[in-house]
Order: sequence, then C-alpha cells, then structure tokens
Amino acid sequence: MINKTSSNSFSEIIDFIKSLYPSENPVPLHAPSFTGNEKKYVIDAIDSTFVSSVGKYVDRFEEMICEITGAKYAIATVNGTCALHIALKLAGVQPGDEVITQPLSFVATANAIAHCGAKPIFLDVERETLGLDPTALKNFLQTYARIEEDTCYNKTTGNRITACVPMHTFGHPCRIDEIAEICNYYHIALVEDSAESLGSLYKSKHTGTFGQFGVYSFNGNKTITCGGGGAIVTNNEALAKKAKHITTTAKVPHPYEYVHDMTGYNYRLPNLNAALACAQLEQLNAFLKNKRELAKRYQEFFGLLDIPFIKEPVNTRSNYWLNAVILSDSKTRDEFLKVTNNANVMTRPVWRLLSKLEMYKDFQSDALENAQWLEDRVVNIPSSVRV
Ligand SMILES: *Cc1c(COP(=O)(O)O)cnc(C)c1O
Repeated sequence: MINKTSSNSFSEIIDFIKSLYPSENPVPLHAPSFTGNEKKYVIDAIDSTFVSSVGKYVDRFEEMICEITGAKYAIATVNGTCALHIALKLAGVQPGDEVITQPLSFVATANAIAHCGAKPIFLDVERETLGLDPTALKNFLQTYARIEEDTCYNKTTGNRITACVPMHTFGHPCRIDEIAEICNYYHIALVEDSAESLGSLYKSKHTGTFGQFGVYSFNGNKTITCGGGGAIVTNNEALAKKAKHITTTAKVPHPYEYVHDMTGYNYRLPNLNAALACAQLEQLNAFLKNKRELAKRYQEFFGLLDIPFIKEPVNTRSNYWLNAVILSDSKTRDEFLKVTNNANVMTRPVWRLLSKLEMYKDFQSDALENAQWLEDRVVNIPSSVRV
C-alpha cells in the first residue's frame, strides 16, 4: 500500500483535527459530553435517596436499552466485562471449556472468558470489518470440531467448544449473520461483544441481538457513558430472569428475609449511574448523527491524502464510535503516534493482539494474518461528539 504518509501530511492531519476541535487542547481521543438531563437526573436520584442497587432509573435504563436495540429483555450491570462474564456463563460456558473469539479486541473480551474458567481460541479477523472472519471460523471448525450429541468438541484438546464471541470493532458491525449461522450449525452459543457498538446496525438489525446474548458497555470512553456500566440483552425470558437473578446476588424476593439460592454476583448497576445513563441515552440519536458527520469529514480529508479511513462495512450502519485510519506500515504508525501526541492530538494504536499477551499467549489460534497486519497499521484518531 502506497500513501503519502510523511511528516508533511502529518502536520496537515494535526491541523485538520485541531480545526475540528478548536476549543480542546489537548484534543482527547474520546471525551464524554454531558449537555442533556444528566445533572437533573443525578440530583433527582440523590434527592430520592435511592442511589444504590434499586431505583426507577435502573428500570428505565433497562427499558430504554430494549427500545433502542429491539431486544426483548435487558439487564443492567455495573460494567461491560461482568455483563460478558454472566452472558457466557448463562450461555453454558463452564470451567475447562473453550470459547472462540478474535485477538483484535479490548482485553475484557478474553478476560470474561477466563473469568468463566474457560480458554480462548483466537481466530482471524477480516481487514474490511475488523471483526471475526466467518471464513476463518468455518475453516477452523471444519478442521477441528467434532459434534457429539449436539455438543461441539475440539478434536485437538478434547474440550467442549461452548461459545463464540465476535466483537464489533470500533462500532463497525462484523458479518454477524454468517457467524450466527455457523455457530448454529456447530451447536455453539453466540454471545456478541457489542460493547462498542450501541447504535450500530447490521442489515437494519441492532448489533447484540443476533445470538443468545449481546452485551454493551457504558464505560467513560464509549459512545454513551454513565461513568461505568453495562447491559446484557437477550430475547429469551428464562435466561433474562436468570441473568437478573445472578447479577443481583441471587436473592430470593422477600420483604425482609435474606435468602440466596445460589452463588450470585454483585454486578448491579447503581441507580446513580443509571440516572446518568438515562440522560445520555436520550441523546443517543443526536450523538450518532454528530459522529456520522465527523466520520464523513474524516473520510473526505483522508481520501485526499490517500490514507485509508476505516468506514462502515456494506450492509451496516456504524455508530462510528472510534474513527481509525490504516497507515502503510508499523514504522509510519510509530512516527504518526509520536508526532500527533507530541502536538497534543491524542491518537492511539489499536490494541496489542490478545493472543500475544502474557496470560493468553499459549492458547490455540489460526495464523492471524489479518489481525497482525491490522495491529501493525491501525491507529485511532479523536472521535468525541463535537459540541
Ligand atoms: C469497553 C469494552 C468492554 C468492557 O467494558 P467495561 O465496561 O469497561 O468493563 C468489553 N469489550 C470491548 C470490546 C470493549 O471495548
């Protein structure tokens, strides 16, 4: 790939980004924007004294997530990682099992698998979507899967493969319908890590609603934030009830007695955070519109410089959570990161591949050619909602 990435174009890029955020110095990668009912709702939560694990904002938050995603049930959680942990557990992942995922992701994806006592299997991503490649998934399963009594086993290890966790990178949907079909065929539960893709659609259907479970994150750097928060969505009523139960200490409802019928988790979202989340969710459409306009400006600008800008894949509508460009090689990338950060424009390399991290380096993977290619070249550029 040839592009005009030189110090010359770097300074043009810095000037352009600074012109997009004239009142920010440094220009952050992704800062939240609280210009709606945030203060009003948070103060209301404080005044009500219901600041902790129950309250009307938690209920409203769950309803709003259902409305936005089209999922039948939503369960609020204290962050996205624990949402993923519980989704995997309820999808049937047990200690010793294996779970297929992509190495190009935030560490939480693999951590949630490890929290279940399971082992990740890392398969390659596509260059176009940055998400799990359905062809890589199919090839791996054709070679290594054995089906016995509706259960998928890994021929090389003898362990069960119980779930698959694709991720919608930077908000760009992966080819989730093909992945769902393959998982179905192999009796593997599909759990979507849609932490980054609230508001992103694949063929007009919301990401996170293609498998048994989807999860979202409301961490400080995401499109919508409530400080920290998460949500699990599902269309299965029994699983939704279990998810609510297990994330709220498995307490059996009773007016005053403390009885818990299993080892539960305290993964509840405090009402205080939910109040913030409700105010943010009211602005989701405005944020999405704003981010789409920003992405369009970036796309035009980088088009003139012949630097590939990552845009929404065909058949999808991305939330454009984090904008990204592909530089020509890792040397150019390192230079770009240095020059832009020195100029107070925050840019970041894509994550180090999970399959290279100390705790995950010994697990099974395929050749991961695209993931490696992307790791060497992709950088994120400032993407906050512009106010
Ligand atoms: C943010 C994120 C999570 C988890 O989110 P937290 O709310 O920070 O726990 C999980 N997966 C991916 C891909 C993420 O980007």
